Amino acid sequence: MSTIDAQADTLPLGGPSLPQERRLVTELPGPRSAEILARKASAVPAGVGHTVPVAAVAAGGGVVVDADGNSLIDLGSGIAVTTVGSAHPKVAAAIAAQAAQFTHTCFMISPYESYVEVAEALNRLTPGDFAKKSALFNSGAEAVENAIKIARKHTGRQAVVAFDHGYHGRTNLTMALTAKAMPYKSGFGPFAPEVYRAQASYPFRDGLSGAEAAARTILQLEKQIGADNLAAVIIEPIQGEGGFIVPADGYLPAIVEWCRANGVVFIADEVQTGFGRTGAMFASEIFGIEPDLITTAKGIAGGMPLAAVTGRAEIMDASHSGGLGGTYGGNPVACAAALAAIDAYETEGLLERA
Ligand SMILES: *Cc1c(COP(=O)(O)O)cnc(C)c1O
Repeated sequence: MSTIDAQADTLPLGGPSLPQERRLVTELPGPRSAEILARKASAVPAGVGHTVPVAAVAAGGGVVVDADGNSLIDLGSGIAVTTVGSAHPKVAAAIAAQAAQFTHTCFMISPYESYVEVAEALNRLTPGDFAKKSALFNSGAEAVENAIKIARKHTGRQAVVAFDHGYHGRTNLTMALTAKAMPYKSGFGPFAPEVYRAQASYPFRDGLSGAEAAARTILQLEKQIGADNLAAVIIEPIQGEGGFIVPADGYLPAIVEWCRANGVVFIADEVQTGFGRTGAMFASEIFGIEPDLITTAKGIAGGMPLAAVTGRAEIMDASHSGGLGGTYGGNPVACAAALAAIDAYETEGLLERA
């Protein structure tokens, strides 16, 4: 009998049936968590850190239960992922049903309907009343990488602008886009070329109006790069990892307008702000902007690894056939979870309740 079989009967069931309470029955970490963390220290490299020193065995609604039976309030929420709740019953049921049907074919070998349905839902839900298409990937960083690939192919240009305090992921290109050295970049270079950094709007610190901050950004872009060389501007509508920075009113619309006038693809990285995180389905709606491309991940699939690039059909179609994709991108189990999570956002009043 494996450890998992032996434990199965004694583990609490996850999902919203877990008592929604804070309950400490040992000191933290308890003996069982301490033992697992000691094994982690010898089996897992130090670079893979953790924030809370407990080992999870169940999570549901808004609590995480650890290996010693402590029940903790889930402020981590899967790092901005489990917006519909951990183990949402519709998500869990959709995953189980799809896993029993088939776990994987690779969409690039044998396509299936759920991927198409997720694409249709994203095309419908994202801001902008124009023809859109979506491609699915595994992680936020992978979506960002693909948005840049698509923008470069569409424009025939190479330069990309990201912003002070921006966060876009941990792969090589997305490290280059990310602003913060520690812990994301330090010692991991060299980074991808043709990535430039500009100042965004940070009204709390710079005191500039949206129009003034946009003029500063645009001057930097025109002086230091030149619009003719610029494929894309990528920005989080509200910066997340950089410190929850809300731009001044009018800043984002002015940047979008400049991009449009200069043939530059405006990419909104909504990996963190998407799916109800700011009270709207997408933060772009709050600022009245319609990005050319939007990257999504985190809240998209109730905790399953899934990500997407959604955008104007003519930009999304720039790549030759076979130029976009990957072994697991849009995996059917993750797509089933996404359809259930999107259903929860739409039918359970989650935006109104945010
Ligand atoms: C988390 C995050 C990413 C990276 O997503 P991963 O799934 O961790 O690769 C990219 N952009 C933003 C804004 C994020 O918050």
